[in-house]
Amino acid sequence: MASQGDNKWVYSFGGGKTEGRADMKNLLGGKGANLAEMANLGLPVPPGFTITTGVCTYFYANGRKYPDDLRGQIDQALAGLEQAMGAKFGDPVNPLLVSVRSGARASMPGMMDTVLNLGLNDTTVQGLVTRSGDPRFAYDSYRRFIQMYGNVVLDVDHHHFEEILESHKRDKNKHFDTDLTAEDWQAVVADYKAMVERELGHPFPQDVQEQLWGAIGAVFGSWMNARAITYRKLHDIPADWGTAVNVQCMVFGNMGNDCATGVAFTRNPSTGENLFYGEYLVNAQGEDVVAGIRTPQHLTIAGKESNKSDLPAMEEVMPEVFRQLDGVRLTLEKHYRDMQDIEFTVQQGTLYMLQTRTGKRTAAAALKIAVDLCTEGVIDKAEAVKRIDPASLDQLLHPTLDPKADRTVIAKGLPASPGAASGKVVFTADEAESQAALGDAVILCRVETSPEDIHGMHAARGILTTRGGMTSHAAVVARGMGRACVAGAGELRVDYKNKIMSVRDITVREGDTITIDGSTGEVMLGSVPTIQPELSGDFATLMGWADEIRRMGVRANAETPLDARTARKFGAEGIGLSRTEHMFFDPNRILAVREMILAETEEGRRKALDKLEPFQKQDFVELFEIMAGLPVTIRLLDPPLHEFLPNTEAEMEEVARAAGTDPLRVHHRAVQLHEANPMLGHRGCRLGITFPEIYEMQARAIFTAAAEVAQKTGQTVTPEIMIPLIGTKKELDILKAVVDKAAEQVKAATGQDLTYHVGTMIELPRAALRADEIAESAEFFSFGTNDLTQTTFGISRDDAGSFLPDYERAGILEHDPFATLDQDGVGELVRIGVERGRKVRPDLKLGICGEHGGDPASISFCEQVGLDYVSCSPYRVPIARLAAAQAALNADTVKRD
Ligand code: ADP
Ligand code: MG
Ligand code: MG
Repeated sequence: MASQGDNKWVYSFGGGKTEGRADMKNLLGGKGANLAEMANLGLPVPPGFTITTGVCTYFYANGRKYPDDLRGQIDQALAGLEQAMGAKFGDPVNPLLVSVRSGARASMPGMMDTVLNLGLNDTTVQGLVTRSGDPRFAYDSYRRFIQMYGNVVLDVDHHHFEEILESHKRDKNKHFDTDLTAEDWQAVVADYKAMVERELGHPFPQDVQEQLWGAIGAVFGSWMNARAITYRKLHDIPADWGTAVNVQCMVFGNMGNDCATGVAFTRNPSTGENLFYGEYLVNAQGEDVVAGIRTPQHLTIAGKESNKSDLPAMEEVMPEVFRQLDGVRLTLEKHYRDMQDIEFTVQQGTLYMLQTRTGKRTAAAALKIAVDLCTEGVIDKAEAVKRIDPASLDQLLHPTLDPKADRTVIAKGLPASPGAASGKVVFTADEAESQAALGDAVILCRVETSPEDIHGMHAARGILTTRGGMTSHAAVVARGMGRACVAGAGELRVDYKNKIMSVRDITVREGDTITIDGSTGEVMLGSVPTIQPELSGDFATLMGWADEIRRMGVRANAETPLDARTARKFGAEGIGLSRTEHMFFDPNRILAVREMILAETEEGRRKALDKLEPFQKQDFVELFEIMAGLPVTIRLLDPPLHEFLPNTEAEMEEVARAAGTDPLRVHHRAVQLHEANPMLGHRGCRLGITFPEIYEMQARAIFTAAAEVAQKTGQTVTPEIMIPLIGTKKELDILKAVVDKAAEQVKAATGQDLTYHVGTMIELPRAALRADEIAESAEFFSFGTNDLTQTTFGISRDDAGSFLPDYERAGILEHDPFATLDQDGVGELVRIGVERGRKVRPDLKLGICGEHGGDPASISFCEQVGLDYVSCSPYRVPIARLAAAQAALNADTVKRD
């Protein structure tokens, strides 16, 4: 064997010589590594070779030049293919044809589309005619090659090709591509070549080496095209990963009626059911199935029936090949231990595998597949828990259409991605984005979608297409994004120019509201009411496993009975933050609150507070009852008082009347309370220091409620009273004394024994730094990371909108620190707070109650620093439960390593 030099740039697969493996994705890209792996498994993979991502990196590091020893390695690999196939590249009698396929580590839009049938020219096509005995096939292949190569490598716009093809079909009065004869295709080829020469000023390349290197160069070139760069930015993919190139011997699905091409999922990607799910086309090549040129047929009889298709299934048409494919399905699932998305071609009754990868799926399908695989003994519970992206659970918490609601169904397409969505009709991705930015819900309606539409699909609530199947671009992308999607609603006619969409005598205009149901495929006029999802079945099973695994508790931030009930339904193990001020805004009480603020004496304030106390007590009674013995952390009043004062003249007059003073005084008081920096102003425990009677009333209300519920239900209620914005131990001591005194009073009055804890929020850097001292008095800390982020950065969340985006763009901040915890800075303070607090009080209970409590990355941090629980909004509780389990599993691995 000739020396390969220091660097190995080329890895062969198939044809008895496979050098790669599935775990070599970084080097070979996803497609190349999996082609090698399939070959290793003994599956029928047409031989080929992969040019590594290292070449791509070299290419860009060296002014778009290839390594010196690349050509030799490619020549050698190509010779291997020639030997395996008994054909020769560029040979007029027995030509070897190849496909050139891009393939990065993760599949990536923007990368060059595959070129098929490379190696054909005016001479070799004759060889193909003779060898196959099928001139129609040979010229069909040649015209496809010129079109693909012309378009993706030479950059000739595809409408030029389409126009030529259309005019030939029109002239011959033929409908389908398959109706065209050898002579027709020959004429098309001649016109294509003439057109390319006209467009480019030079003829279509006839030299097969030039073709090959042109295609390889185009793949590497596409790594730096605008679309790929944008995609990488959006998904944090580093530019130095590079793409690989796969060169693979062609197999032909377009050689007649015993040939086919298809795509399939080893399980249903929408529902997760363990049923083979796929589509195929007889006598077709490459992406004909997903391109929507002909209506694809189902693989299985069951699939055909459940989709009410009258076209025969592969199971019926090619039973032998189908059985073989079904065997491949089992082999791949067993090997990869996960649902696969596969691409295959049948050449004259022989099956060839062209791709496998982990299949994209809806959140519901992901759950079902993970639970099923675990039940089948393929993976364990921990693995099942790891397989679900916590953020994707969001999709399952989305509403579905109310079955009882009236609906006017105007069309039906395929149920391509579940969930129901209503919104205004828009016809372009840009329009979807700009309308959504204005806060409107939109449904993006298109004939079909392409990678250029991604931003609009993201912005839309739902996607509707009139063409394409379950594996069309729209369907696959929508499922990945968790958007509702109805695909291929063929009765609808989209008219981009006039911005209308019509069916029969119904016209829907841009801006009209429609509803789509991605679970049934229905398209409806107007906005149809929805209902909340049921959280049982696989969801409950997987959540149960997550609960077994996680170490941290998960609580919810909730104050209203509705929130508290939702939180429990989603599995919250208590309330981590109940903000009492929300209760003050109730129209029944706000007047008394304002009276209290306006009072000039303690006595006056106490009078107003007396009015509030029964309301406040009732709030807590309800919370304690709903939470039935689970811990409830109640934060005493936090916001600056001016927030409660009226803004309008009319309201001021009303308050003045109620408080028995004149409106001018109300106005005066409002001016007096106005603060320049309310975030840093007279709020939190500072209010308690100035007006201890407020906290006293709140504490009494809490204890009276606890006593009442304890007496009524026999359950122990252990409230956790949280004093906000503590910066010094002294503040806490003074206010803890107020709380303790209230407890004594209630104990004496009710004769009920009370247990409770007093703790604080750590939301000022000083509190984190002096945590040891503060822990002498505090029984628990809850890291209030919203304010801690503000006070650590010195950034006010209300004002940050004007410059935070600049900071993210400039790379100063990687993420919005209010969405994902800044682990280096704010996290450092949390770590210090934990360490110093626990040093003094080893059983100090530690939690987090900022927005970060529902963010998976931040949750993982909380696990690392050893918090006892996270608390988040009720709808994020399931996400937090799963993320906490995954964090525990990762922490385990780190410990074992
Ligand atoms: P993508 O990344 O867009 O899926 P692929 O490289 O998988 O692109 O190519 C698309 C399709 O082209 C494949 O699904 C297959 O049908 C066809 N194809 C690729 N290589 C070959 C080949 N060597 N022989 C036959 N068909 C091929
Ligand atoms: Mg494709
Ligand atoms: Mg593919």
